[in-house]
Amino acid sequence: MAKPIVAIIGRPNVGKSTFFNYLAGKRISIVEDTPGVTRDRIYTEVEWRGRKFTLIDTGGIEPYAQDKIMLEMRNQAEIAIETADVIVFLVDLKDGVTPSDKEVASMLRKTKKPVILAVNKVDNIGEPPAEIYEFYNLGLGEFIAVSSIHGLGMGDLLDEIHKNFPEEKEEEADDDVIKVAIVGKPNVGKSSLLNKITGENRVIVSDVPGTTRDAIDVHVENEKGKFTFIDTAGIRRKSKIRENIEKYSVIRSWTAVERSDVCVIMIDAQEGVAEQDTKIAGFAHEQGKASIIVVNKWDLIEKETGTLEEYTEKIRNKLSFMTYAPVLFISAKTGLRINKLYDLIEYVHSQASVRIATGVLNDVLNEAIAMVQPPSDKGRRLKVYYITQSSVKPPTFILFVNRAELMHYSYERYLENQLRKSFGFEGTPIRFKLKQKG
Ligand code: GDP
Ligand code: GDP
Repeated sequence: MAKPIVAIIGRPNVGKSTFFNYLAGKRISIVEDTPGVTRDRIYTEVEWRGRKFTLIDTGGIEPYAQDKIMLEMRNQAEIAIETADVIVFLVDLKDGVTPSDKEVASMLRKTKKPVILAVNKVDNIGEPPAEIYEFYNLGLGEFIAVSSIHGLGMGDLLDEIHKNFPEEKEEEADDDVIKVAIVGKPNVGKSSLLNKITGENRVIVSDVPGTTRDAIDVHVENEKGKFTFIDTAGIRRKSKIRENIEKYSVIRSWTAVERSDVCVIMIDAQEGVAEQDTKIAGFAHEQGKASIIVVNKWDLIEKETGTLEEYTEKIRNKLSFMTYAPVLFISAKTGLRINKLYDLIEYVHSQASVRIATGVLNDVLNEAIAMVQPPSDKGRRLKVYYITQSSVKPPTFILFVNRAELMHYSYERYLENQLRKSFGFEGTPIRFKLKQKG
């Protein structure tokens, strides 16, 4: 099921981040920061009436330059119109209707997407001041009064958002199909790769349930199995603003990663790992997805002995949180090593689906504990009694311990490495959950 995207837009200081943080609540701090990835606080998952959606603060995508507010507002509105299922336009009661509000409103009136006007800083929601009626002048119809700082009116607003979601349809659940997201920056070669690997076998599946976006998935069945390649490029709209294309591509990448079983993270060989690549890879890691790092345009690199090893080393350094992911050097243009890709997709997917019997797991655990003692603090030592696998995709293990707070990141890392030595889990993150006992 694809999660709908809700974008908040509005001028600086109307309260977008306050609004966003209120809805994000504690959820943000639960997600552990991935070392090496600067965490953007621009998206978060929210659940309302049993439906999950992704909330995006378009104001966080790029800071405003003082003299360019109008331009930034237009950019935000364009991104929201392009990528969101529901747009929340936040205005400020204290400022009233401003010229840039009017301009954005006129852009929003042209879109077919649902737009919800929310008037923020109505701290006295029971008796809003008469000035509030001024916002009818924006020509966007009814508005909802909220106070983000006090969390007032949020339920009504969420209900309105919820009402406007595209109809929820179950995505056809065919367990044999591996859903693959090919993600990367614009021009890295995603479409070229897709064309090359799907060749004549492609069947275009255009209706992605639960979204109003024009996503086009490609389904392939061949001797290697059944695959659905999730659309990430999207229909290439002609944006007037070049940078906006990059921004859409990031948002599209997130949603594709969320829906996928396997992520193919594409790096441009000539450019190396860019900041955007790190963000996308970090997102895939946090979402627990199996991943393959594909370095494309390898045909353009001058090679000597050791070039490949050196390059791999650089990638490992930059994407240090993802050392489990295999790296493949390809050329979507010449076809170099592309035949390996299906095998790798199959392989990492099966690795992410492995279940290890409890007895064997505990043998490995006991041996690991015997070799390196668990950490201690102020005379108390961590005891790990027992391990069991609770789920797959990603493989998740429950560790029964005496005191959870004695666990140390480095010891968890050590246990992870021991499990990997014994069982592989190549291409997939693995997770631990601690349960305190006795
Ligand atoms: P952004 O630039 O749109 O992200 O705005 P911020 O979230 O940073 O908020 C700008 C200012 O407005 C901050 O000083 C907030 O504390 C304040 N603010 C946000 N929401 C409310 C509200 O509901 N009521 C009041 N009185 N102030 C608010
Ligand atoms: P996308 O935006 O990620 O879908 O990228 P495209 O598939 O549209 O490719 C962008 C450009 O890079 C096109 O001009 C392609 O011909 C070129 N390109 C893609 N893959 C390769 C490759 O492996 N080698 C070379 N030399 N060019 C490539």
